[in-house]
Amino acid sequence: MIKEYKYIFGPVNSRRFGVSLGIDLSPFEKSCNFDCVYCELKGAKPVDYIKNPPKVEDIISEVKEALAKFKNINVITITSNGEPTLYKDLDKLVLGLNKIKQNKKLLILSNSSTVCDKKIADVLMDIDIVKLSLDCATQKCFKKIDRPLKGLSIDDIIRGIKTFSKRFKNILVIEILLVKGINDNQEEIKRLNEVLNAIKPSRIDIGTIDRPPAYNVKPVDEKEMIKLSNIFTNLAVSLIHKNPPLTKENFSTKEILVLLKHRPQSQFDINNFFNENSKKKVMKLLDQKLIEQKDIGGTVFYQLLRKR
Ligand code: SF4
Repeated sequence: MIKEYKYIFGPVNSRRFGVSLGIDLSPFEKSCNFDCVYCELKGAKPVDYIKNPPKVEDIISEVKEALAKFKNINVITITSNGEPTLYKDLDKLVLGLNKIKQNKKLLILSNSSTVCDKKIADVLMDIDIVKLSLDCATQKCFKKIDRPLKGLSIDDIIRGIKTFSKRFKNILVIEILLVKGINDNQEEIKRLNEVLNAIKPSRIDIGTIDRPPAYNVKPVDEKEMIKLSNIFTNLAVSLIHKNPPLTKENFSTKEILVLLKHRPQSQFDINNFFNENSKKKVMKLLDQKLIEQKDIGGTVFYQLLRKR
């Protein structure tokens, strides 16, 4: 008989982080300090605690069992039906998971709201990959898209991410979710680009709605997403495509170098936007050591060779 776990799920194959074993810190009901318009869970009043939290020892015991059973896991993902950093024993949980994780990476998916709290930022320091969401850089847009608990300010959150990023030595991924008519305009993206160039994350993931949202909002179409993602400079941007474009480009070597100077390109982009001839040129540039390949938190990027 297949054992049913209470607090863990998977393993699931995620394109962004590899094969992931998930931990749900709010398995019984949504507990979040945001009420995002695009949330895959039902809309709910924001709260600043996790309702009916599981015990650390129960989670650790399930993870241990799953690690013995599933051998191909890349990451253990701390997540929740809500915001996992609201879990009051996060410090003890991270300590326990780091002891048993073997060669797996520990990942957390957070909405960023608590990173300005030094105690929580200190706990995040001990996690291999920290994914923080940042959908907007202005309070007006933030309130519209993430519908936060009263008192949460995007300026505080941005300050918190900047301070965290300066201290953090592991992989920091920033996720932006684009919603039609809310944060899909050039001004907001330009502002985000400025902020992110100051934060200097390891990688940025840009996506849009692809599951039924909590409220009546629409995704941004593929062409527009590509256009907006091109506004970002000097950042490793990974676009989460639902329908990769069918036409592939024939780039010259010079064009490839210009493209990589603007920002690194992901393996997914190379596979889906570059024709066979362009891919061969990328391989040649690699052989010539003019560019390099880098795995950032489970996503491979090509970038100009950087002096270490
Ligand atoms: S932060 Fe995540 S869980 Fe919370 S409302 Fe937004 S999408 Fe839903």
